[in-house]
Amino acid sequence: MDNIKHYEATSLDDAVSILAKGKGAVCAGGSDLMTYLKGFIVADPPTNIVDIKRISGLSYIKKDGDTLKIGALTTLYEIANSDDVKNNCPALAEAAGLVASPEIRFQGTIGGNICQKPRCIYYRNEFDDYPCKRKGESSMCYAVAGVNRYHSIFGLKDTCMAVCPSDTAPVLVAVGAKIVTTKKTWDAKDFFVIKGEQINSIDADEIVKEIQVPAAKKSVYKKFAFRKSIDFPLVSVAVAQTGSSAKVILGACFNEPYEIDAAEIAGGNFSEANAEAIAAKVDAKAKTTAQNKYKVQIAKTLIKRAILSLA
Ligand SMILES: Cc1cc2nc3c(=O)[nH]c(=O)nc-3n(C[C@H](O)[C@H](O)[C@H](O)COP(=O)(O)OP(=O)(O)OC[C@H]3O[C@@H](n4cnc5c(N)ncnc54)[C@H](O)[C@@H]3O)c2cc1C
Repeated sequence: MDNIKHYEATSLDDAVSILAKGKGAVCAGGSDLMTYLKGFIVADPPTNIVDIKRISGLSYIKKDGDTLKIGALTTLYEIANSDDVKNNCPALAEAAGLVASPEIRFQGTIGGNICQKPRCIYYRNEFDDYPCKRKGESSMCYAVAGVNRYHSIFGLKDTCMAVCPSDTAPVLVAVGAKIVTTKKTWDAKDFFVIKGEQINSIDADEIVKEIQVPAAKKSVYKKFAFRKSIDFPLVSVAVAQTGSSAKVILGACFNEPYEIDAAEIAGGNFSEANAEAIAAKVDAKAKTTAQNKYKVQIAKTLIKRAILSLA
């Protein structure tokens, strides 16, 4: 971590102008950024670290009609424990409450959660240990022929096999949330499209300001992780009813939150037959390896549990 410059931005304009100089990174809670920098993950790391925590007015949960507006600096702890979130989008409160550990939820923000870097073991290695496609060090993804038991079960995107590690991402896609940045307003499903190292498509000088979550009172998030105390999802699923139908979105199964084709549940019919039928679609779409095909059964079981819990 040599030659780091730490800026305490006083406004979003100030933060954007520092990022625009290049080699910049936003620091919110720092729970992912610090491990990224101290792990020597990339050969040419960001050196202009822009602390946005002192910018006022970025931490709030407000109800505006049928929409929850959540500031980017709101912590995962605040979201998990907010009555407004629990009552209007239980899946988001559950997902935030299942991230990591209490310490990380106190410190980690929703903005950082949806902008965190991938967690693939090849990506997270020191830059000169294994070449990684996502870091631009190789034209191929070494996970494909190497260790891939935690990786994508729906094939590759841009020849990379790493999954989207964010717990809140599948919920935001399932409810059709909007992500407001300093440049534009994104639909969640377009936001979570991988670009280079990122799990989303924002620019290097673009900052998430607010997440707008439509009310989805009938929504649920289920997570399976090896360790119960502190662990990233191995497989997760969000099911959320907005309007007359419900979407089923898998997390940690593909580079992006994964929508199973034609898996919308019309009319809120959360029956056992529908749960079975949607779970069966995972088999039809799966492109697994010998090491990770066990994740398919976990995905099917979580889908059924999630749908039946809404019945
Ligand atoms: C041990 C451990 C376990 C973890 N377990 C989980 C888990 O189970 N589930 C999970 O989802 N995550 C997990 N995480 C990842 C991460 O810590 C959390 O997701 C947390 O929410 C990140 O928030 P932060 O505010 O600390 O982000 P930071 O570390 O400050 O930032 C993370 C990234 O997002 C960028 N960024 C931050 N805020 C913004 C913004 N407003 N606009 C644009 N870019 C921004 C930063 O530049 C950085 O690249 C874990 C991390 C650790 C270290």
